[in-house]
Amino acid sequence: MGLIVQKFGGTSVGDPEKIKQVAQQVLKKKEEGNQMVIVLSAMSGETNRLTDFALQMQEIPDRREMDVLLSSGEQVTISLFAMAVKAYGDDCISYLGDQVKILTDNSHTKARIECIDTERITSDLGKGKVVVVAGFQGVDSDGNITTLGRGGSDTTAVALAAVLQADACEIFTDVEGVYTTDPNICNKARKIDRISYDEMLELASLGAKVLDIRSVTFAKQYKVPIHVRSTFTDTEGTWVVEEEEEMEGRIVSGVTYNRNEARITISGVPDQPGIAAKIFTPISDADIIVDMIIQNQDTGNGLTDMTFTVLRSDYQRTMQLLDSITKETGANGGIHGSDSITKISIIGVGMRNHSGIASTMFSVLFNEGINISMISTSEIKVSCIIEEKYTELAIRALHDAFELDKDNVPEEESIT
Ligand code: ADP
Ligand code: ASP
Ligand code: MG
Repeated sequence: MGLIVQKFGGTSVGDPEKIKQVAQQVLKKKEEGNQMVIVLSAMSGETNRLTDFALQMQEIPDRREMDVLLSSGEQVTISLFAMAVKAYGDDCISYLGDQVKILTDNSHTKARIECIDTERITSDLGKGKVVVVAGFQGVDSDGNITTLGRGGSDTTAVALAAVLQADACEIFTDVEGVYTTDPNICNKARKIDRISYDEMLELASLGAKVLDIRSVTFAKQYKVPIHVRSTFTDTEGTWVVEEEEEMEGRIVSGVTYNRNEARITISGVPDQPGIAAKIFTPISDADIIVDMIIQNQDTGNGLTDMTFTVLRSDYQRTMQLLDSITKETGANGGIHGSDSITKISIIGVGMRNHSGIASTMFSVLFNEGINISMISTSEIKVSCIIEEKYTELAIRALHDAFELDKDNVPEEESIT
């Protein structure tokens, strides 16, 4: 007998019929002698629908109220699921984040889990109940509802698996595992059988939304193996585990994209010491995360341009803040930006020891007529900001160029 945490994403619980199917699947596993803790997302499209409502009320929705609103989606699915289990003659109890004390900090809309009280869950499991917990939400120390950021139900599941010391953590979704790139965009994408936490962290941080990055961080920290698999087929999925010797040793192992960012340029910034702090301190004080930053060289007139990216959901808020920031810094060239950009990245731990990977990427994009507006590199990834409309084209071209569709390409031969 084992304790299994299973998480089902939005598509898997997209309507009442699908919720019934998930309930049957869970009960089958329970009948094999397992204790079952289930984490559910809201029905697919629901969190977006609620976000649209909020935007009709306030141009920049109040973040505390946003959490009250967005957390409602998961309340619907867990209660329906519990009813379905009961209708099949078994027992089940649903819990919201604050009822099982998923304690988070107070950073609304992107809160971090601090601890989880497992008492109620353990007691219910002992009584033979299936326990279903709302994903993506928690409560802060003042009793306010918080949410963990988009895709956060994965994090709820892995955090629960960690504190309950579960025997397995299964993430059920609408694809059969983790692929070399998004299989819904590139039909040559190849499923990866086993991937290390570190490589998965890179993929997730650069946009592979099949797993929320914080769920991978928890999994690595608490050594929770994750099995990512499809709700709709029985096929073995992808295991996310500690690094193993026989893992694919490729130079480039994946292509990702992230459409959640926006680019902002402040022109005519005085090129003086302390200017970056003056611009970015108020932004970080407003809890806005800045990703890439490029400062151009002074062209001789003592002025420079500063370009950076923020989350698309923070774009309007940042633009508003910049009005007063630019006055204070004396920047006189205006602010402009775009929220229709994509960050395309190639990732691979093998890149550490190979040169020429970035230039191959630039040539591939150039050959497709795609302009690059920002570049950032690290030891194991290269990212380029491009116009959003070229996302699919760029992904397919890069996937082809690095031969990611082929099994077992030896490192030295993987690039021609
Ligand atoms: P869920 O609602 O089950 O949490 P998500 O939509 O959050 O599902 O994540 C699954 C989706 O992630 C897939 O449908 C796929 O389009 C996308 N995706 C992006 N990159 C990858 C990748 N490298 N491997 C698998 N899926 C990916
Ligand atoms: N419902 C939330 C979202 O759509 C959380 C999740 O599905 O993981 O982002
Ligand atoms: Mg998800």
